[in-house]
Amino acid sequence: ANIAGYKSVLMAATRLGIYMPLLMTAAGTIRPAKVLILGAGVAGLQAIATAKRLGSQVEVFDVRPIVKEQVESLGAKFIEVESDSNEGVGEGGYAKETSDDYKQKQQNLIHECISKSNIVITTALIPGRPAPLLILKSMVESMKPGSVIMDLAAENGGNCELTKKDEIIIYNQVTIDGTSNIPGTMPVHASELYGKNISAFLTYMSKNGKLELDLSDEIISGAMFTHEGKITDQQTKLAIEELN
Ligand code: NAD
Repeated sequence: ANIAGYKSVLMAATRLGIYMPLLMTAAGTIRPAKVLILGAGVAGLQAIATAKRLGSQVEVFDVRPIVKEQVESLGAKFIEVESDSNEGVGEGGYAKETSDDYKQKQQNLIHECISKSNIVITTALIPGRPAPLLILKSMVESMKPGSVIMDLAAENGGNCELTKKDEIIIYNQVTIDGTSNIPGTMPVHASELYGKNISAFLTYMSKNGKLELDLSDEIISGAMFTHEGKITDQQTKLAIEELN
């Protein structure tokens, strides 16, 4: 997620026909590019930091109010939807689905911001659910020619109505990139970080070289799908029940 957030900004910036930073030169003043980021989890926060380092102006939406401070500490503007402040907050620090009223208010605000943005990076995900639909076709139609949408939720159906997984399409002069394996474009650090993650996890689960599964530990039980012939993961259990 970290790599996807970082690289998506670079990929979008190279497609723009404009500068990212503010420039004041004898030949004129260039206004900074505007970047809109939907979802400020791991990928979104890294995208904010990267877009800010390149000198652009960054606006951000998320359903979890707790990220406001994190967004602002990176120098970006947090856009809030008026509501019961915890309605998008789910378990374990992740998001949950919001009400229809919230969705409508959020769509209106996004519509307003998107028409002024040069780059939109979408990262909004809800564990175990399809990605929330945040950008409708009509919103893309209101965007400036040459703008770029990087849909990092493409793997889970996309945050934009027009996204096609693993395709880069141009609609109404707006590029919509649904590349799902962006971390694969930075294989050295992707593998290094993933390897470290797995080795730390295996070390954590082992005592004196033997696997010890403490099922009351939420790190271990949260990563477990089956145990002793039974499905332990609730989402998987539900999905299989639905199939039957
Ligand atoms: P995620 O990939 O599940 O979701 C990305 C972001 O989308 C989240 O911030 C979520 O609130 C937001 N979102 C969901 N629905 C939305 C909507 N309708 N509109 C706008 N935004 C919406 O989340 P994540 O990146 O894994 O991070 C979630 C939390 O987990 C963070 O607090 C993070 O620090 C923590 N965490 C994650 C990891 C990890 O490896 N993913 C590791 C350590 C901590």
